Amino acid sequence: MALSSGLFVACDEDEAVLTEDAVPVLAGAPLEDDADDHDGPPIDTQDIVHVEGADDGPEVFVGVSGLGQAEVLVEGRSGEVALVASELDPEVLRAHGAEPMLDFKIADKPVAGTISSPSGYGHYCSMLYPSGVSVLGWDAAGNDPCAVIIANNGAGGTIQRAGMMSAAGANQVVTRCDGNVAFAARGLGTGPLSTNWNNSTGLNGCIHTVSPLALPIFEIGPLPTTATVDPGTGVDFARPPITTLDTSMFGWGGSLTYGSSSAQLVDFKGRRRQTLTWIDDHSAYDLGVARGTETYALANGNVIASRWLDTKCTGSDGPVQGEVYIRHTVARNPSTYNETFVAAYFHLEYLFPRAPGADVFAGDILGHTGNMGCSTGPHLHFAVIRETNVADARSFTLQVPFGVGNNGYPYTIDPWGWQAPTGVDPWGSRASSGGAFSVNLWKPGAAPDTDTWED
Ligand SMILES: [Zn+2]
Repeated sequence: MALSSGLFVACDEDEAVLTEDAVPVLAGAPLEDDADDHDGPPIDTQDIVHVEGADDGPEVFVGVSGLGQAEVLVEGRSGEVALVASELDPEVLRAHGAEPMLDFKIADKPVAGTISSPSGYGHYCSMLYPSGVSVLGWDAAGNDPCAVIIANNGAGGTIQRAGMMSAAGANQVVTRCDGNVAFAARGLGTGPLSTNWNNSTGLNGCIHTVSPLALPIFEIGPLPTTATVDPGTGVDFARPPITTLDTSMFGWGGSLTYGSSSAQLVDFKGRRRQTLTWIDDHSAYDLGVARGTETYALANGNVIASRWLDTKCTGSDGPVQGEVYIRHTVARNPSTYNETFVAAYFHLEYLFPRAPGADVFAGDILGHTGNMGCSTGPHLHFAVIRETNVADARSFTLQVPFGVGNNGYPYTIDPWGWQAPTGVDPWGSRASSGGAFSVNLWKPGAAPDTDTWED
């Protein structure tokens, strides 16, 4: 087998090409080569070479096991070697982050790692000056309202929030000011911004957080449309550190207290679920689906982590679960107004390995679902975390690992968009240490079918 320059394995074993710095490793390594775990012929460890060596990412190896087939192995954190077999087709190559190769043409790709910003969006800017004076500016045409504020009011302020607003569609705005004063508005275009700006007259220390109700950037769902999906849980917005929710914020009377026998859980539409089996303190959708189902990147993005994590959990198919975190950035000009979301996929039994920072493209296969880690049945743990213009910060950078287990991600949002009967997302409307406006991130027709879990 010839090793030369290039990045990936060509169709023909004789023409296999790998990275220039590829060095044979793993010969004789203790592979867990269970024939039931993959489709291809057994791996010849003679052919296994090290192809990617991210400093803090998983070790990735590729072996050529036969004409037209590649085997990809990932060395797990605890030393196990998981094994993925794949047909060597363009889709899989793309899933592996393969660059153009000598003997294999890949279909035209979009610009790496970026999302085409949808049209019809402008920008807003919430600036706070040391005197306590705040300014809210907006530009539905997509110009630079922060620059205008600075031009008009001086440069001594600090941008508290800056992001996207819908020029003509629905936006929601929460304003929080000194003295624990908070108020919200929802409406079309610049209407709610104007409302809250006017209502903040005379108040000090105001910070305005704005979000469109819809920002269609996700091109496909995380699972095949043909998969049978059984939703098991919803996003839980009622959890510590804010243990009591004023439910009048989403159309109910009274309040809900975390840990009490009253309805402390709300689903992704703000409905009480105390009679159902929502998992407490759970920061994701659990989508029940058969083992081995492909899971996809929702949109173009960049890998934060694609790794194996030893959860130490028992009772599942194994304690080590595949985890993928993809960052999706809606790039704006200027970048002050970028909006960023992270999609997380857990319990995978197969993982297509990628180094941190690698580009992925909408529809790329990230791995195969399973029943790994802290899991009681085959499912995909699917979460979306907002990183920009969250309830208490202009931005937040997800660190992996964050929190404990699969829960505790503070800015998890519902990618279908918070649709409480009235009012606003309680986590966006409070001066909480976590939470963010939900936004419907699906392009038309892209969202997984929710019929089975809607009332
Ligand atoms: Zn889960």
